[in-house]
Amino acid sequence: MFVEIQRAVHRGESKMTEKFKDPLFVTKAVLPEFDNYVEKIKPIWENNWLTNNGPIHDRLELRLKQYLKAENLTLFTNGHLALDSAVKALNLSGEVITTPFTFVSTAHAVRMNNLQPVFCDIKLSDYTIDEDKIEQLITEKTSAIIPVHVYGHPCNVEKIQQIADRYGLKVIYDAAHAFGVEYDQKPISRFGDISMFSFHATKVFNTIEGGALTFRNAEYKHKLDLLKNFGIEGPESVSMVALNAKMNEFQAAMGLANLEHIEQNFANRKCVYNTYKTRLSNVPGLKFPDISGNVLYNYSYVPILVDERLFGKTRDGLFDRLGDYNIFPRKYFYPLITHIQAYSDCVSRLDNAEYVSERILCLPIYADMEVWVAQKVCEIIIEIYNS
Ligand SMILES: *Cc1c(COP(=O)(O)O)cnc(C)c1O
Repeated sequence: MFVEIQRAVHRGESKMTEKFKDPLFVTKAVLPEFDNYVEKIKPIWENNWLTNNGPIHDRLELRLKQYLKAENLTLFTNGHLALDSAVKALNLSGEVITTPFTFVSTAHAVRMNNLQPVFCDIKLSDYTIDEDKIEQLITEKTSAIIPVHVYGHPCNVEKIQQIADRYGLKVIYDAAHAFGVEYDQKPISRFGDISMFSFHATKVFNTIEGGALTFRNAEYKHKLDLLKNFGIEGPESVSMVALNAKMNEFQAAMGLANLEHIEQNFANRKCVYNTYKTRLSNVPGLKFPDISGNVLYNYSYVPILVDERLFGKTRDGLFDRLGDYNIFPRKYFYPLITHIQAYSDCVSRLDNAEYVSERILCLPIYADMEVWVAQKVCEIIIEIYNS
């Protein structure tokens, strides 16, 4: 591989690989067969039941509970409101330790509940929260840890649980990226007090917009169901101030239809991911995250770390050049949350997170992506390296 690249350098590579005719984005939403979706929503025209725990909603809730092998599960209209409801359900107070290397939703769910986010640095191996740096951030005010299984890589769930138990903290996992992931043959939905999954159009499994919480304690179910429906207990009783965050029947039908081809989607994603990894991991300065042998991964993202000293170009340089070929990867997660105005008061030492955020690039991957597309992206990246 390396030899090949060297040879290309010596040949003085003049011919440029043709750019993609259509723009290639970081992802493409999965859609079921049109007729299948229509079949799924047909009953809505017969029973006139559009939302509020309809029969399609209940079927999806059951199916997902089985699929994610969760003890308990409740659906939401999106992942963010699910996370927000999880924070509310656990009555958190004071400070919450979380990661700055995530989508803003995670931090917003903390701040919007009047809690203080305390950002902990990440590991360079897989970009999840550094469990060895959590303890030093715990104060009397700490009530919870909200780690993120970023890109679907499981956090060190055992160590995090030990810390939580020692200090009496709650753990909510942002598992937005981790649909279908297993760790040590255990489903990822079973760790911590609550886990949040996102079913947004851009995620590996979608309900257009949508989300779910999974949790060990069955007693949370009642409270979470109130939290997503205005706190309405019965026709004449409202027991708390709460949100509207219910999943409707059209979303649930999309979920049922998309669940039918989820295994093929994972298999194809794996193929595409491995194509990238085989072709690019020997390019000097490009690094793939470590995925440990005891993880059943979902291949939701293809994050590569660009070391400018070895690659010869910065991440931003590579990003710009890919644009010339009609390839539009994403700098997930840049800027780092602590670099966003609203969180600029949250100062901590985040050396690894800063380093990774400046260098990470997520390459295109989606459920029905053909392998030749990934191969071509690789050739183009090697061409850019050689130029
Ligand atoms: C997508 C995402 C969310 C929010 O989920 P929505 O369904 O879009 O509301 C939260 N956290 C992370 C890490 C995400 O990627």
